[in-house]
Amino acid sequence: MSKKLYIPGPVQVSHDVMEAMCAPMIGHRMKEYAELHAEVTADLKQLINAPGPVFLSTSSAFGVMEGAVRNLVQKRCACFGNGAFSNKWHDVTERCGLRADLFKAEWGQPVTAAMVDEALATGLYDAMTLVHNETSTGVMSPLEEIAEVMRKYPGISFIVDTVSSMTAVPIDVTALGIDVCLAGVQKAFGLPPGLAVFAVSQKALDKARTTPNRGYYFDFIEFEKNDEKHNTPSTPCISLIFALRHQLKKMFAEGLENRYARHRRMARVTRDWIIAQGFGLYASDSCASMTLTTGTNDGRTDLEKLKKMAGERGYAMDNGYGKIKNQTFRIPHMADFTVADLEELFTVLEELLPQVRTD
Ligand SMILES: *Cc1c(COP(=O)(O)O)cnc(C)c1O
Repeated sequence: MSKKLYIPGPVQVSHDVMEAMCAPMIGHRMKEYAELHAEVTADLKQLINAPGPVFLSTSSAFGVMEGAVRNLVQKRCACFGNGAFSNKWHDVTERCGLRADLFKAEWGQPVTAAMVDEALATGLYDAMTLVHNETSTGVMSPLEEIAEVMRKYPGISFIVDTVSSMTAVPIDVTALGIDVCLAGVQKAFGLPPGLAVFAVSQKALDKARTTPNRGYYFDFIEFEKNDEKHNTPSTPCISLIFALRHQLKKMFAEGLENRYARHRRMARVTRDWIIAQGFGLYASDSCASMTLTTGTNDGRTDLEKLKKMAGERGYAMDNGYGKIKNQTFRIPHMADFTVADLEELFTVLEELLPQVRTD
């Protein structure tokens, strides 16, 4: 039996998106592909107000996360970590043979502008990495405040993972001055996994040109050269790009403001429900994610059992990530989900909760 996905990635994919992937195959050196590529990248540019090109990478998000540091770290990278994905980025940077330091906030807390300022004021760094929305904890860091601090450091590449926030909250890459803004499509875009999108500033491209050992597959200069012809360096996941075109049209038809409001509403409803069931909230209101909410276990609920029972009913749920597994659970509310989808899950969980609680 297939399960409806209530996990924070890959997210549930709508039937119409799966259908869009069934379009007849085309060759990526055919003019049909150039038309598709041009249309999709123009829509992405509009979506996030990118100042320069938006590239399509046939990889998961970590491919571009690795690529960004390989292209842009020449001296030393400041990695800001407040959860599994952001901490991992530091590890990835070091594994590329680059110098990097990890500045940590507690899990459940955001990365703050003050933290960023203090680290960068040392003058040791020429690049920084930030995860806007930590999907492991459900915490959203204050991107605007951090961007404000980054204005003081125009020589430091500002690299931002918006994997689980792009399309769900407004992200104006030009206004924020972000050098690389990346996302995988299996989160808030509501697509199957396998594609990442990323905007790169002219300043970052010019710097990348002078960086040695960029490799090939994620060489930003290769992406730039090919994108000028509405193409990609190597064969892209064309079916997913068909689906992305479809999903972008749907977003503009819904209206971006309506889309953002839908995410805010779902976040509110989820937080209220979690409290009403006697659980706690892992993230405070001020840094609560708009795309997933992490609840804390009340100490009397067998989350492993709840997950198993929900699974038997056809609902895949999450029981916490990494070191906070079973102490927390995450409820996603992004992409094509509506309040009705959340209510469907809540009804099932309300029925199951009395069976998995010890009083
Ligand atoms: C899911 C996720 C990633 C990792 O993405 P992959 O597509 O698995 O490489 C990175 N960052 C964040 C914030 C994520 O949510």
